Amino acid sequence: MNVISNHMPTADLQRLDAAHHMHPFTAGSELAEKGARVITSAKGVMLTDSDGHQILDAMSGLWCVNIGYGREELAEAAARQMRELPYYNTFFQTTHVPAIALSAKLAEIAPRDLNHVFYAGSGSEANDTNIRLVRHYWAQKGQPDRNIIISRTNAYHGSTLGGGSLGGMSGMQNQGVPVIPGIHHIDQPDWWSEGGDMSPHDFGLACARQLEDAIKQHGPDRVAAFIGEPVQGAGGVIVPPDSYWPEIQRICDDYGILLIADEVICGFGRTGHWFGSDYMGIRPDIMTIAKGLSSGYAPIGGSLVCDEVAQVVNDAGDFNHGYTYSGHPVACAVALENLRILQEERIVENVCNKIAPYLADKWTQLTDHPLVGEAKIVGMMGSIALTPDKAARAKFKADAGTVGLHCRGRCFDNGLVMRHVGDRMIIAPPLVITESEIDTLIDRAVQSLDETYDLIRAEGLY
Ligand code: PMP
Repeated sequence: MNVISNHMPTADLQRLDAAHHMHPFTAGSELAEKGARVITSAKGVMLTDSDGHQILDAMSGLWCVNIGYGREELAEAAARQMRELPYYNTFFQTTHVPAIALSAKLAEIAPRDLNHVFYAGSGSEANDTNIRLVRHYWAQKGQPDRNIIISRTNAYHGSTLGGGSLGGMSGMQNQGVPVIPGIHHIDQPDWWSEGGDMSPHDFGLACARQLEDAIKQHGPDRVAAFIGEPVQGAGGVIVPPDSYWPEIQRICDDYGILLIADEVICGFGRTGHWFGSDYMGIRPDIMTIAKGLSSGYAPIGGSLVCDEVAQVVNDAGDFNHGYTYSGHPVACAVALENLRILQEERIVENVCNKIAPYLADKWTQLTDHPLVGEAKIVGMMGSIALTPDKAARAKFKADAGTVGLHCRGRCFDNGLVMRHVGDRMIIAPPLVITESEIDTLIDRAVQSLDETYDLIRAEGLY
């Protein structure tokens, strides 16, 4: 076989990909028919594909490339660490400098007393850790029956059996999850789709109070923890009403249940604060981290754990849990370098004070478009709801997601990666995007919306 490289014709690469590569969250045969887009390189916020197209990546890969593509320092950090100590584990009473340094740095950055980290290879694995961690914690406190975890519909917490069971996405249910018993889902705080006649404020409170109802239903001595993304990402960048998180915090405090903030997307500057919990004013006992921790340059995730929980678990003998790649030295070294860049270049502050307000101004103006109902944005994550009737917050005649998929296709062809979740279009660009790149993003989005509008009118979907 020829050497497979960037220089191969696109069609040959696509044929080999279709023959041997199973893609996540993809209809494999359908993709094989048309061929996957082959991304060959990237710099800053721009991707290049195998046909030489330049595409503005308004999704930071999968919400992860916070510092943008092509930072040599991270490549150097990885190479240096690979030469010195490419691998060692942290199981058998050993440790290494990258894990020590990253843990200390995370304790410095994290809010309140989240001073301890249990490493994983991904966000999904970290959420699996969380399930075992909170159940083990309560068992050690003499409450082994306190094992129910409350989550939300349309939440995304990963694709492992644990993460998938915690999550509440309809498309994932009945494909092998949920399998973990003792997980209860309450409604998501999605006012646009589910708020009916209620004001956003009242709806936010009503959704939060479902947590209290669930606690009472199971019995307060049965509920171990509540888990939620500060802003639901994969669910469609669902920004909860302001009333929501304070009420969730009150309920967790009143009933003494642990609060787990899944910060896999919101963490490391995405909201214009270091963590989404800071933005929402909540005090989690555990935070799930991944993605922006290394800006996606190396796979790494983890659970940031507060003093109290860590103390109980640490005092309880062996915690029989861990991954071969927990605290992988190369991933830790890359993450550490990523955090140095985020801090030294004041990227999070720049997002908060300059870039996010600029983006928000442009993004919210998209509601002038006939297809766009609401526009939501927090920091560098935003969504627009496509609708045939703004006032009624109506859905399209076509199956949910049909119009969104059209729009995503138009975006791709116009050199923009914007994702769709049903008929919501979402963005999460690299935090380092410039004002002129935001202008390009918005221009391409408007053009794609115009073309979608024409297309669906022509097809009678409007
Ligand atoms: N939690 C959240 C909130 C996520 O968005 C994701 C990934 N999109 C995960 C967990 C799972 O992370 P990973 O894909 O790294 O396993």
